[in-house]
Amino acid sequence: MLPILYYGTEAQKQKYLPGLISGELKAAYCLTEPGSGSDALAAKTRADLTSDGQFYVLNGQKMWITNSGFADLFIVFAKIGGEKFTGFIVERNSEGLTFGAEENKLGIKGSSTRQVFFENVHVPAENLLGEIGKGHLIAFNILNVGRFKLGVGVMGGAKKVASLSVQYANERVQFGEPISHFGAIQHKLAEQAIRTFAVESAIYRVSNLLEIKAQEAMHAGASYAEARQLAAEEYAIECAILKVAGSEALDYVVDEMVQIYGGMGYSEEAPAARAYRDARINRIFEGTNEINRMLTVDMLFKRAMKGAIDLVGPAWAVQKELASMPSMEAVTGAYGEEKKALEDFKKIVLMTAGAAAKMQMDGKLNLKEAQEILMSVADMMIELFLAESLLLRVEKLSSMETSIDQDTYDAILQTHFHDAGFRIQKSSTDALTAFAEGDLLRTFLMGLKRFSKYPPRNVMSLRRKIASALIEANAYCF
Ligand SMILES: Cc1cc2nc3c(=O)[nH]c(=O)nc-3n(C[C@H](O)[C@H](O)[C@H](O)COP(=O)(O)OP(=O)(O)OC[C@H]3O[C@@H](n4cnc5c(N)ncnc54)[C@H](O)[C@@H]3O)c2cc1C
Repeated sequence: MLPILYYGTEAQKQKYLPGLISGELKAAYCLTEPGSGSDALAAKTRADLTSDGQFYVLNGQKMWITNSGFADLFIVFAKIGGEKFTGFIVERNSEGLTFGAEENKLGIKGSSTRQVFFENVHVPAENLLGEIGKGHLIAFNILNVGRFKLGVGVMGGAKKVASLSVQYANERVQFGEPISHFGAIQHKLAEQAIRTFAVESAIYRVSNLLEIKAQEAMHAGASYAEARQLAAEEYAIECAILKVAGSEALDYVVDEMVQIYGGMGYSEEAPAARAYRDARINRIFEGTNEINRMLTVDMLFKRAMKGAIDLVGPAWAVQKELASMPSMEAVTGAYGEEKKALEDFKKIVLMTAGAAAKMQMDGKLNLKEAQEILMSVADMMIELFLAESLLLRVEKLSSMETSIDQDTYDAILQTHFHDAGFRIQKSSTDALTAFAEGDLLRTFLMGLKRFSKYPPRNVMSLRRKIASALIEANAYCF
């Protein structure tokens, strides 16, 4: 629906959108091919204009196409003359359009996935979508929105799975008591909730950012569709973060669900097995998590180079701070320790990414060939965004009436910050040791130590507090 809403002509919108909105028409999105998955622009499907200019003739093959068993419309990407990557709207009843058998998948078995074949499929010239040679804009902008939606979707799944986990843990009795009484199980229940809550906090934040940006654009005269697209483009980094963080949180949550269910977790008679299989696809489609991690860093560096954000100034300030004596300022105010830790997390990311960028500029490092460093920087960016979103949410909750007591939200926040600090330290160390050595590395590692001062928390008792709220509610309750 979105490719037509964002890029369609008025006639295309009138013809297809009402049916798509009412549900009479279903659609599919055909980008991937057997030889081009992550490298989507390497597609081989081609389109050639007939001599009378009336039709584009499509030949080629698409793979892994969701909804293809029953879709009425296909948004298809093909190269005009084998070169210009372009979008088309193809109707199901087109002659020459055929389908493979349903794929025998690991999970999401309720979703139709087939190959789609094009053999001299004549597509009316008016069904060309957007501009010739600009198909990549459609493909990638739709993926931005798709990543946001995937992040939101997986959180729904994670909450459901967390609820089922606590219900089972309350019901299942071993050694004379419900397994939810055991510390090892409480750790899992709490951790399921912490990860879900952190990603959800980021989702609320990005939803709001997208909405504000779209409203601003509409006030400035953009149409609804233009405004939505602009917003998704502006927050493409955040959308990629939600996709990666959400899908990985869900995989953690379903994995622990299987464990909490024990032997029943391994049986198709209980819900855990299906959830475990269904969740796994989310790290693969809408751009794999590796591709999304690389995009996150790539987009950040590109924006810095264009001057859209200032990375160099803050990175330089951190460098100067490294050469000065540490300040002994006392931390004060509500959530002061978390606010200070967040500033320090930012400094670690700036120090690490800034140093890598400088090495690259000095010709001592080729980041394209050092993907491990990009992965570490992306991991730190994700941690930072989640930690900040969580702090903003918990701080806001502290001034609101809620059914959960604030100490429990604070326990989520503190446990998350405690763990995030260690994860960020590890990612930074992995990256720094990959490109620095000797005195330079020693300086960076001292900086890392200086910026890793979040006080250690008694995470055992904090997790027990979180678990007791879940156990009492017999559901995910945050
Ligand atoms: C159930 C299902 C439904 C799908 N639905 C659709 C759909 O409706 N429409 C559609 O167009 N597509 C769809 N897809 C395709 C999906 O988007 C692709 O599978 C995905 O983009 C990955 O491409 P690939 O499978 O070719 O993997 P590959 O690109 O071959 O990747 C294999 C591995 O290599 C890694 N890798 C690839 N390139 C790099 C690189 N440059 N650097 C580092 N690592 C790299 C990947 O991260 C991955 O781990 C679907 C797939 C599935 C399984």
